[in-house]
Amino acid sequence: MPNPRNRSTSIRKIKRRVPSGKSRDYYERRKGGKRASCAICKAKLLGVQRTGAKSEKTPERKFGGHLCPKCQSKVVVNASRVKEKAKSIEDVDIIYRKYVEGILK
Ligand SMILES: [Zn+2]
Repeated sequence: MPNPRNRSTSIRKIKRRVPSGKSRDYYERRKGGKRASCAICKAKLLGVQRTGAKSEKTPERKFGGHLCPKCQSKVVVNASRVKEKAKSIEDVDIIYRKYVEGILK
């Protein structure tokens, strides 16, 4: 039985042949983890990486690295409608409201 810390599904089990001819299990932690995803629609975000300078790691757009381009554009359009008083903040879809209020402040 493996050690409790090696029983998780996030641990990869590798079989290696040792010099005596028997095979032995080795355990390796998976690297990386989950990819960045949109906070609203959960789509995978492109252009987001872990290494490099800050400007290389995320898109330098408003909400870059948090929202996908589709959701980001909806937020910006809604914010400008609210700013021009063509729409009230209560008419904005509730999932976008938090981000729209963020722009208006
Ligand atoms: Zn999205």
